[in-house]
Amino acid sequence: MTADANAGKLALFDSHCHVFREEFEGDFGPMLDRASAEGVLGMIVVGTTAETSEVALDLASRHPGLHGTAGLHPHEAAAFGDATCARLRALVERDDCVAVGESGLDWFKEWAPREAQLASFRWHLALARELDQPIIIHSRDAHDDTIELVREFPGVRGVMHCFVMGEEEMKPYLEAGLYISFSGIVTFPGSRANQAAARACPDDRLLVETDAPFLAPVPHRGKRNEPAFCADTLRFVARERGVEPAALAQTTAANTARLFGLQLGARA
Ligand SMILES: [Zn+2]
Repeated sequence: MTADANAGKLALFDSHCHVFREEFEGDFGPMLDRASAEGVLGMIVVGTTAETSEVALDLASRHPGLHGTAGLHPHEAAAFGDATCARLRALVERDDCVAVGESGLDWFKEWAPREAQLASFRWHLALARELDQPIIIHSRDAHDDTIELVREFPGVRGVMHCFVMGEEEMKPYLEAGLYISFSGIVTFPGSRANQAAARACPDDRLLVETDAPFLAPVPHRGKRNEPAFCADTLRFVARERGVEPAALAQTTAANTARLFGLQLGARA
């Protein structure tokens, strides 16, 4: 695509999606085309198990603009153990793996035992710091425990993905040096506190994401989410912050590239 064809369009980055999931079967190519048409030049494809992390890295190796990560989602933490850790570590050590995660704590659904989630999250934090890779953190109804564990690993780099909390809760993560990524949830009318956080987040720490196929932003709410819809979230956050969408797209894409160590360009 030429620069002219991109004129007037956003150039943005979906900092978190799971496009390897079955929801995109039979629609993968068109999904990528729709993302391109909305100016989504890059995507971070986030693994949630050893298996899907392999798939994420494989997809990224075959599609320009996609970048894979490796980690064990807190919902999957029951699989935490030596065999899983060995597999994940080998994946994270690959040159093309851009982050550790997603990992974290989910006390809302609590699909895996708390002890397993805590052990897994600690392991991911330690690995991220050891390898100087960013960690992608999932935290739901677990703010106190999440920030406590993050503080056990000073110097760790990373992002609070799908940040749904308010401005006060955001502060300690910023102090810990983390980036904050806003998802479609920020566009929901009931998300007042989260919208305040989106206005207050410093320019150099702000990311946007879809978390596709989950959490489609307004006006797609309730449908399958996809990376193209990242533009809707970006425009919403730009309006909240009183800035031009194109400028915010550039800022957030640059932040994503800095965090994950990527070169920006057409199909970054
Ligand atoms: Zn996710």
